Parts: sequence; C-alpha cells; structure tokens
Amino acid sequence: MVKSNLTLRYQHKESKMNNNPIKLLFELTGTAVDVFNEYKKKGEILADDKKSNLRMELCGKCKSFDKEAGRCTLCGCFMKVKVRLEATSCPIGKW
Ligand code: SF4
Repeated sequence: MVKSNLTLRYQHKESKMNNNPIKLLFELTGTAVDVFNEYKKKGEILADDKKSNLRMELCGKCKSFDKEAGRCTLCGCFMKVKVRLEATSCPIGKW
C-alpha cells in the first residue's frame, strides 16, 4: 500500500512528539484533573486573553515548540488549546 505524502509528513512530525500512549494518557488525565480542580476552586476554566497570549508568545520562542504542528514536543499538547486552559502549565516551568 502506498502512503500519501500527507501521511508520511504527519508520521514524521509525530515521531518528534512524546507519543508514548501511557505517558500521554497520564498527561491528559492529569490535565483534566487540574482543570476540574481549578474550576472547583475559582470557578474558572479558561485563562484570559492576556495570559493566553503571553503563554503562546513564550511557546513561540521555545525550541520545544513545533510551529508546523502547533504542538509542544515535550508534553505533546496542542498549544492553542493548552494555553487557553487556566490550570495548565509548561512542563519545564516557562509559564
Ligand atoms: S509548553 Fe513549555 S516546553 Fe512546551 S513549547 Fe511551550 S514553553 Fe516550550
């Protein structure tokens, strides 16, 4: 079976990511718990625009940010989504 260029490119990009399924499951579960706890504590789920934009700016300058995929190569998250969630944080403490 011949794979399309798109499939090959996707696999190439994905290979740089943290794609260990168990680790990703823990990351995702941890994020969901953090978001839920933040909501219980402050009643907030989403970060405001100022905070989200600052986070995205920091990611944009980070060597671990894959601009084409829009993902952090350390946590594997889609940063456009992650920066909007109040309870999330950078895995290496940049924000
Ligand atoms: S979350 Fe942190 S490590 Fe990942 S791309 Fe953003 S600044 Fe870099």
